[in-house]
Amino acid sequence: MIGVDIGGTKMNAALVSEDGRLEGVVMHPTPTGSQAEFLGGLGALVEEVGSDKAAAIGLGLPSTIDQRAGRVVGSVNIPLVDVDVRSLMQARFGMPVGIDNDANAAAIAEWRIGAGRGTRNMIMLTLGTGVGGGLILDGKPYRGASGAGAELGHMVISYGGPACAGTCTGTGHLETLASGRAADEAAKGIFGADAAGLELVESARGGDEACIEALAEIGRRLGAGIGGLINIFEPELVVLGGGFGQAGELLFGPAREVVAREALPPGRDTVRIVPAELGPRAGLVGAGFVAYEALD
Ligand SMILES: [Zn+2]
Repeated sequence: MIGVDIGGTKMNAALVSEDGRLEGVVMHPTPTGSQAEFLGGLGALVEEVGSDKAAAIGLGLPSTIDQRAGRVVGSVNIPLVDVDVRSLMQARFGMPVGIDNDANAAAIAEWRIGAGRGTRNMIMLTLGTGVGGGLILDGKPYRGASGAGAELGHMVISYGGPACAGTCTGTGHLETLASGRAADEAAKGIFGADAAGLELVESARGGDEACIEALAEIGRRLGAGIGGLINIFEPELVVLGGGFGQAGELLFGPAREVVAREALPPGRDTVRIVPAELGPRAGLVGAGFVAYEALD
């Protein structure tokens, strides 16, 4: 399969085997000038990997997707709005094409070959600048009525809280309160206007009490979100990934304390909350698995 992982700044593609191995990884800057430029760059990327070597193509996009029509409804950071990407790619390459949200693709990869191997009910949160989510329920990815579901980062954890960024009109969402962006805000409060979340994490690792507490507060908000998800879905496993997720136990420890209070038994006592295993390649591997799904 050919897997393609599209981000706001770079796009990766590779051949992906059934057990998730990557071969011939290529990477280019994402063309963001116009939709035509983007689609041209996407096609060239697939050609470069070798469309003659694969049976299907899977795309992981930073987009809201309507799975019924194969359309991208809207996107974050790339110029793709209201376009039938699946049909366009199928027509160009003459093979099945699957498309999915990038956070869903990462969750599928962790479920198949990463931290979630062997589970039937798994939730993944990707903690980056924002918060992405993926749901594996009863042994398969859950995408909602049209395919736009599992936006776990836009769960309200504080009614009337700070406003969400981008096109979301909500307030007090997990994405605003428990993301890398939240860490940036906390770092500014401690170090001044130029500081970023990375400084907060590094100082906390060095034992700085104020930074440890600032990350703990973000972790407790994360725990509030996870507690709610456990009460709704009773997963066996919650997987936490993404760049900001590298803060690890500085976030996860306080999160578990809040989960112990907010979540109901028996899910509270049986769920495991663990770090992701695949790192940044999860999106690309997952896109390959989306291609296998399209072939079926
Ligand atoms: Zn939101």
